[in-house]
Amino acid sequence: MAEYDVTNFNVICRYQNLPIRWTGDVIVAGGGPGGLGAAIAAHRSGAKTILIEKNGFLGGMMSYGCGMPLGGAYPGMKSIGGIAEELLSLVRNAGQDAADVRHIPLFGDWYFHDSEFFKSLIAEFVLKEKMEVLLHSFVSDVIMDSKRRVKGIVIDSKSGREVLIGKTIVDATGDADICTRAGAHYEVGDEHGDLMGVTIPYILADVDTEKYLKYIAEDKDFSKLRAKAKADGIFTNEDDKFGSHHLGQRPNTVFVNSVRVRNINGTKVEELTFGELESRVRMLQHLNFFRKYVPGFEKCYIASSGAEIGVRDSRRIIGEDYLTQEDCLEVRKQPDKTILRCQGPFDDISRGKRTDVSFNQVDVNDYYDIPYGVLVPKDLDNVIVSGRTFSSNPRAQAGSRGQGLLLGMGQAAGTAAVMAAREGAAFKDINIKALQKQLVEAGCDLGI
Ligand SMILES: Cc1cc2nc3c(=O)[nH]c(=O)nc-3n(C[C@H](O)[C@H](O)[C@H](O)COP(=O)(O)OP(=O)(O)OC[C@H]3O[C@@H](n4cnc5c(N)ncnc54)[C@H](O)[C@@H]3O)c2cc1C
Repeated sequence: MAEYDVTNFNVICRYQNLPIRWTGDVIVAGGGPGGLGAAIAAHRSGAKTILIEKNGFLGGMMSYGCGMPLGGAYPGMKSIGGIAEELLSLVRNAGQDAADVRHIPLFGDWYFHDSEFFKSLIAEFVLKEKMEVLLHSFVSDVIMDSKRRVKGIVIDSKSGREVLIGKTIVDATGDADICTRAGAHYEVGDEHGDLMGVTIPYILADVDTEKYLKYIAEDKDFSKLRAKAKADGIFTNEDDKFGSHHLGQRPNTVFVNSVRVRNINGTKVEELTFGELESRVRMLQHLNFFRKYVPGFEKCYIASSGAEIGVRDSRRIIGEDYLTQEDCLEVRKQPDKTILRCQGPFDDISRGKRTDVSFNQVDVNDYYDIPYGVLVPKDLDNVIVSGRTFSSNPRAQAGSRGQGLLLGMGQAAGTAAVMAAREGAAFKDINIKALQKQLVEAGCDLGI
């Protein structure tokens, strides 16, 4: 039990006795694609590793995205290999209805999948691999060793507040929560601080998909029908343009990725709350619109929706290196520094007041390199990030955050975390050539 001094403005916690639950080599915080790749790589190397996740399932967007396609694993039309290819193969081979590969112009080959399948597949995977995992555990604080080193993390769960001590830490929280608590510098949004809109994906069932496909051949984003609905006084938010929808994985279903709530900072709880509530309201508006106006949707219903809103971007660390827009657009190769090949258009969605979506083309037959240093926070020695928070220009980030891709980024971060833990070295000092060698030996195709 802590002792609290309460003033008019804040509460000072004077004394708290926190049990140490775990001590080991590598702590990975966040079980989305960035964290999964890292935890699997670290665990397989023999390092004592634990994966911490706030939700009751693993996978992040891969699991709660209602089948959000798994992108970015085939830059230059060639697999990045390693753990990404292994997990995508698992999805592909889980049954004929688990996934299919579709080619999307500008994006390349993406896995469309049934995320309910993925939730179970990944559970089976971590159990088989005997990985240490803690679900329902929110990383709420860090314990510093010195100004640049984190000794451990504090988690909050039903079991109370507990401490985990590790030699190195992979921050895969999607929001750089650990780096931020440890005092590392970061950026948020674009040059105006504007963030991309947040989205709750959902699946409509009982759709006559033949009629749906026939209709969208004429009016891809339902703009004619939305104009009609508007004239009839039926409201659907102007931001929800229905530009993104496709056949679902199951018969008679359609996946919709069209709610766009603007100006939500995913690191502010009041904004997250509004984003969640507003998204649910929008979904009902959509349902009414679909039933009344769109051919084939007369009897449709919402079969499933994301467990929470999807946040496209929030904090990005200030790292030892920085991925620029030019790096992406000029498909720059950095053989001495690379840990991952990447290709993706900048789908810069509903940022601030902007109404356009910028899809800068990055040749699908080519790729750019992601340099190791973008994962390494400038201010910290034993913390590395994995996932959408890496050090980059906001538009470069938008093109480099596919889930398949981030499994590969995770593999690099997890491998580096083991090297740094074993050598007692700061992340910025590890030998990149040796890291690349280990990644290649583990099946990653770095293009070098
Ligand atoms: C609406 C939307 C549409 C998208 N469309 C696509 C698409 O079509 N294809 C594609 O490939 N990518 C898409 N993306 C991008 C992709 O989903 C993300 O870039 C990717 O999921 C980010 O991975 P991550 O591991 O960094 O973070 P996340 O997937 O967000 O995972 C972070 C994990 O950490 C956990 N966590 C967070 N904070 C804490 C904490 N403090 N303590 C413990 N656990 C914590 C979370 O619960 C989560 O499981 C989309 C994203 C959004 C939001």
